[in-house]
Amino acid sequence: MPEVLKAPLVVEFPFTRSLGPVQSAFLTGLRERVVLGVKTGDGRTLVPPVEYDPVTADEIRDLVEVAPTGTVTTWAWNHEPRRGQPLDTPFAWVLVRLDGADTALLHALDAPAPDAVHTGMRVRIRWAEERTGAITDIACFEPYEGEAVEPGGHDGAFEDAVHGIVAHARLDYTYSPGRAQTAYINALSSQRTFGERCPSCRKVYVPPRGACPTCGVATSEQVEVGPAGTVTTFCIVNIKAKNLDIEVPYVYAHIALDGAGLALHGRIGGIPYDQVRMGLRVEPVWTEGARYPDHYRPTGEPDADYDMYKELL
Ligand SMILES: [Zn+2]
Repeated sequence: MPEVLKAPLVVEFPFTRSLGPVQSAFLTGLRERVVLGVKTGDGRTLVPPVEYDPVTADEIRDLVEVAPTGTVTTWAWNHEPRRGQPLDTPFAWVLVRLDGADTALLHALDAPAPDAVHTGMRVRIRWAEERTGAITDIACFEPYEGEAVEPGGHDGAFEDAVHGIVAHARLDYTYSPGRAQTAYINALSSQRTFGERCPSCRKVYVPPRGACPTCGVATSEQVEVGPAGTVTTFCIVNIKAKNLDIEVPYVYAHIALDGAGLALHGRIGGIPYDQVRMGLRVEPVWTEGARYPDHYRPTGEPDADYDMYKELL
């Protein structure tokens, strides 16, 4: 049995979101070193603020400033800070109820060791030197033994408010495709495509997942499919993706390789985008040293009959 593959995988993207009036005031406030909460119908103050009352679902807009000092309500120690976290030395994740608030805010507490942290300890905000209107304008919390600080009474109206933010989402992990897809990927490196046939319903899965989701049984019979296939359905992509060097518009299609019981995805090239159609016969195009086809191009054969692929859409 060949070794099962595994590799580091990173999924990251800039997530652009617009802010409603309450989040806009909250983040703009942080830029100005003001922490705002919102009042609910029953008189509680929520920090971080939300736009709808969690009890009545009424829209809420009554902003109120709270203090930059507060009390830790619970915490967990982070032994190994990861890239992008608020501090690069071990720290505590804390929920802090700021003075004047009824709910707690999640953030980092700069503390030398876990025995320096306890529920009920007093802390205050350490502001970031450069502030842009983001939760990171609070660099972290730090232990604080002094007097409670009175909030300034800000009403949440600011010049030059922040209306949108870009949050960088990133997941990095080790991915293992498992036994079935390892065999599939290894075969692709010699430009051959193998699926696995279900022993019960006889469907050939490409790429194989190791089991038939319909019958709930393991698949192990390897079946070579393709290399040519049929476009079963497709879309025209008009939006250029970040970090993807493909001119738009282009066509992304479902392609049922000959012998496969379901379609896989691939880009169609070698034909104007507006001439791609259901039933088009295509074959893979490999670039030097690639482990999977760069795209699929027309074979020149007559189009497949709809009845041949209607179950593979
Ligand atoms: Zn099956």
